Amino acid sequence: MESPPSAPGRPESLPAVVLGAGYAGLTVAQELHRRSRGKVPVVLIDRNPVHVLRTELYEVGKLASTGDATDAWVVPLAGVLDGTSVAFRQGTVQSIDLAGTTITLDTGEVRFRSLAICLGSVAAYYGVPGAAEHTHQVYRLSGAKRLAAAILQIEKASTSLPGERRPRILIVGGGSTGTELAAEIATTDWRAIADPHARRPNVFLLTGSLPFLAGFPPALVERAERVLARSGVELVRGLNVTRVEPGRVTLADGSVFACDAAVWCAGLEAPPVVRQLPVPHGRAGRVAVEATLEIPGHSGVFAVGDVVELQDPRTGMPVPSTAQAALAEARTAARNLLARWKGKSQVPFEYRERGVVVALGLGQAAGSVRKVPIWGSPAALLKRIVQRDYAHSIERGEPPTLI
Ligand SMILES: Cc1cc2nc3c(=O)[nH]c(=O)nc-3n(C[C@H](O)[C@H](O)[C@H](O)COP(=O)(O)OP(=O)(O)OC[C@H]3O[C@@H](n4cnc5c(N)ncnc54)[C@H](O)[C@@H]3O)c2cc1C
Repeated sequence: MESPPSAPGRPESLPAVVLGAGYAGLTVAQELHRRSRGKVPVVLIDRNPVHVLRTELYEVGKLASTGDATDAWVVPLAGVLDGTSVAFRQGTVQSIDLAGTTITLDTGEVRFRSLAICLGSVAAYYGVPGAAEHTHQVYRLSGAKRLAAAILQIEKASTSLPGERRPRILIVGGGSTGTELAAEIATTDWRAIADPHARRPNVFLLTGSLPFLAGFPPALVERAERVLARSGVELVRGLNVTRVEPGRVTLADGSVFACDAAVWCAGLEAPPVVRQLPVPHGRAGRVAVEATLEIPGHSGVFAVGDVVELQDPRTGMPVPSTAQAALAEARTAARNLLARWKGKSQVPFEYRERGVVVALGLGQAAGSVRKVPIWGSPAALLKRIVQRDYAHSIERGEPPTLI
């Protein structure tokens, strides 16, 4: 223990608590163990006993073919934390009392000496009527599984559609998640999975008022557009969704888009339990943290990953809400949390993007790594290797990286 022994319940005897065992939270917990050589007690809390590989949840074709077996998309936490100073507690966080240093779970209460809030993000529906009720999402494993099962059903039923009609799947949101998902659905061999006579779905990718793959390098965008067109994905540009009803999506110009399934990939916001915190908030309820990732006015309380709004002091650009950024932030947050315990000075977070690779189906991808463009099957292979390496590093308790 870094701190001297003290009476149970006294702040010095309380653990560092990490909320959320996603990319940010699991890395914070593992780094706290590694950096303190197991001397700092850490409690890691999540509603699931597994770490979900969220960056792979667009793989609905593969999910559809595996039924209920989801082992490939999760890493059990028990094995990962075995032999470390990190204790796992399962529960859903219902409220966070920063002044009272207490977390309320559906399974009880936990007190903390220091805290890292790493609860990720949820779909943002921007008040569009019907969007939450009548669209699918792939931001959580349960949602991705439901979507995979729904498309499987749609494909099975496609054999009895009238005339030449094919199933119509609409993806709302032309960012990387929407793009990867559209490519996956359009290029999956549904005949092999659903029915030998299943009809290939028509996949539409609605970019809304934002440009397709906004913020990505222009060469990557061009390439992705060409590959998507070859795979039969149709881009619908310039129109936001104003209403969703079962089987119908209304667009800003009043036109109605009929579809067999709609998927919401249009944006993310901080979860309600984070939005409710009496702390400075930025866009979409994210926590506006100091450069050290500490929450202003709350010494020893950090926020990390998708829950955070932060500008890179070197570039003035917002740090993206990606797993890659979450891992980098987690390392700095763990270091600064320990500095607080020891009364040492903290360091500011500096973000250096390693690159980005967008999967485009059929073993193809487009990306840029350290500003060098990379295309086709080498890009897809690189993405696959990096994802596998990430899962293996997590399992072995080694510092993980991602693109
Ligand atoms: C389909 C898809 C593809 C992506 N591809 C990439 C990519 O290629 N590269 C990349 O860098 N990023 C990618 N991302 C983004 C990336 O997944 C996120 O930025 C990343 O997951 C953020 O990490 P996090 O730890 O903040 O949140 P998460 O990984 O979502 O972790 C949050 C954790 O908190 C838990 N939790 C939430 N609320 C509660 C609660 N109330 N009580 C208890 N537990 C709770 C959750 O169970 C979860 O374990 C992708 C995202 C998606 C959806």
